[in-house]
Amino acid sequence: MKKTAIFILLITFLIGCQQENFLAQQIEKRDTQQDYKEEPESFVQVEEEDKEQAEQGKEEEDKGNGEKQENEQIDENKDDSLTVIDNPDSVSLVVNKQRKLPDGFEPDDLVEANVPYHAAEGDPKRLIRKVAADALEDLFAAAKEDDLDLVAVSGYRSYDRQKQIYENNVATKGQDHADKFSAKPGTSEHQTGLAMDVASAALVAVLEQSFIETEEGQWLEDHAHEHGFIIRYPEGKEDITGYSYEPWHLRYVGKETATEIYQAQVTLEEFFGLYP
Ligand SMILES: [Zn+2]
Repeated sequence: MKKTAIFILLITFLIGCQQENFLAQQIEKRDTQQDYKEEPESFVQVEEEDKEQAEQGKEEEDKGNGEKQENEQIDENKDDSLTVIDNPDSVSLVVNKQRKLPDGFEPDDLVEANVPYHAAEGDPKRLIRKVAADALEDLFAAAKEDDLDLVAVSGYRSYDRQKQIYENNVATKGQDHADKFSAKPGTSEHQTGLAMDVASAALVAVLEQSFIETEEGQWLEDHAHEHGFIIRYPEGKEDITGYSYEPWHLRYVGKETATEIYQAQVTLEEFFGLYP
């Protein structure tokens, strides 16, 4: 009788261990899947960029041989020809494919705005500089008053994260492809802490040009400047900004500058006289 009892206890204990082990495996599996799930989302953006760049590349080829050679030479010396900006803390900074942030730059006033986010709590994508966070809250509140639901998708991206994306591209698609098609670390506006990709809550995380066809996209185009933001990569200005139209990518510059840029319908580059 006693033996049977001990036997049953032992079996129960063993089953318990098995279950615990199984549970741990499941949790591990889930975490891995989450990590994995996050990657393609970043790639969607990189892929978008790829598509845009490919189109631009085609246009450049069409321009004729003389100019093409010149472009190739510039490409080869890309790194040396990059200007390192000296005002990374200014809301008037201009970062683009020719102008990079100083090595290791990280804003020291990153916060989460009190707005709906797509990314899970604790994700650095929720971060944005304090001054821009306040403005983003105003912007979201104003949209809400007009019965529109916005969601913040992607804000701060660290140098290391961009490096990871870039190097991943090098590993999977080759150096040439990566150099040509993905933003080098230090040249992404998301590293400044002044940019936020915004989507319609109903079509969350759909960062496509068709966003402009949504009420939210249209509203942003008309009202973002009233809260200090510009549509950083406007339609038809690819040759100036280096990026195709991105109706979802907001950049904080302050109300005064944003309004002037909006009224003049110019790019940030043109506004600061950085485009000949
Ligand atoms: Zn963006």
